[in-house]
Amino acid sequence: MEKIKMTTPLVEMDGDEMTRILWQMIKDELLLPYIDLKTEYYDLGLEHRNETNDQVTVDSAEATKKYGVAVKCATITPNAARMTEYNLKEMWKSPNGTIRAILDGTVFRAPILIKGIVPYVKNWTKPITIARHAYGDVYKNTEIKVPGKGKAELVFTAEDGTETRELIHNFEGAGIIQGIHNTEKSISSFARACFGYAIDTKQDLWFATKDTISKKYDHTFKDIFQEIYDAEYKDKFEELGIEYFYTLIDDAVARVIRSEGGFIWACKNYDGDVMSDMVATAYGDLSMMTSVLVSPSGVYEYEAAHGTVQRHYYKHLKGEETSTNSIATIFAWTGALRKRGELDGITELVDFADKLERACIKTVEDGKMTKSLSLISTCEKPVILNSLDFIKAIRETFDTI
Ligand code: NAP
Ligand code: MG
Repeated sequence: MEKIKMTTPLVEMDGDEMTRILWQMIKDELLLPYIDLKTEYYDLGLEHRNETNDQVTVDSAEATKKYGVAVKCATITPNAARMTEYNLKEMWKSPNGTIRAILDGTVFRAPILIKGIVPYVKNWTKPITIARHAYGDVYKNTEIKVPGKGKAELVFTAEDGTETRELIHNFEGAGIIQGIHNTEKSISSFARACFGYAIDTKQDLWFATKDTISKKYDHTFKDIFQEIYDAEYKDKFEELGIEYFYTLIDDAVARVIRSEGGFIWACKNYDGDVMSDMVATAYGDLSMMTSVLVSPSGVYEYEAAHGTVQRHYYKHLKGEETSTNSIATIFAWTGALRKRGELDGITELVDFADKLERACIKTVEDGKMTKSLSLISTCEKPVILNSLDFIKAIRETFDTI
């Protein structure tokens, strides 16, 4: 069989630990035999990030801007323990944070649904995609622990020196204060990424805040979304028959639980942090969550939502067998290849991505799966495979469908 040709390279960001092992297996078993794979390779493994003073992360993000599509392996975000383990020069920042800042992107996370893995919410028959605004609010806060009696004020000093003051509270005793902010620029980028992705995936977009209580802060989010929608996206939404609607966050959670899924739920930073964990858990398993970073200009970086699966890697290093689920990482590749195929007009690549995803799903539905999936599957006699044999089983399915 002739291999599928590519015209534009994918930006390939390699990563760390167990996912780095899976990465190579996926390429060897599922991609290279079928595709004349064209990638621009960036090694974001922690050792190489350290050697390049993290320049490689910046370069990979710049390359993503240039080519438009990237696929990323999970990477270690260094902490104190990693400093010693990898003898790091510095506690390098999270690669995802660095890439997100350069691309000004929003992260969309969606579960992969498979028969036999039943969501805790039984009416969720389609995936719910969570879009989390990843800038500001409580994640960039300033806090004071108030020791005792006194007055707290919010002060804004304009460039010309004019002050605007608002009383926060007259403290009678000890307490706490928190200052948070956001910017119109960041909220607008978030809104554009959400509207664009809704059009791209032909799904409704929901957005919710607490604007009834927060009449300036949250209300600004609501207004910016509405203004951008009306001015730039309304016609396209109507043409596609999809809907944008805003509602109060309380109403949104109730509707989400009663829904059948199949839409994008845009969340402010904190809501997105919490709700994405809730939604992922309710759908069954972190190892079945996909993630894509989308910039307002339409640049895409695909990855799995889970981390490097450190515990499995240490087992692997000891020569023990692992049963790590590679599906979300495979879907990162298929997402990126499909997008590349769409952009370059290569239908074979789009079809390949669709077929490989069907092969993953069918393999599990046929009862062959990794350990963590077998624990939540309704399949009566699952065949539990090790990391490599599972990928090989997917290849067998692929060759027969
Ligand atoms: P993790 O790698 O997501 O793994 C947490 C646990 O979830 C694992 O120990 C495993 O449970 C289970 N799990 C996750 N993915 C799995 C898979 N594909 N197959 C089977 N089981 C899976 O999170 P972590 O251990 O907290 O973090 C490890 C490293 O990943 C950290 O250095 C962190 O910085 C990094 N990280 C990177 C990203 C990213 O690059 N996007 C995201 C999150 C974390 P059992 O051990 O019980 O089997
Ligand atoms: Mg969280």
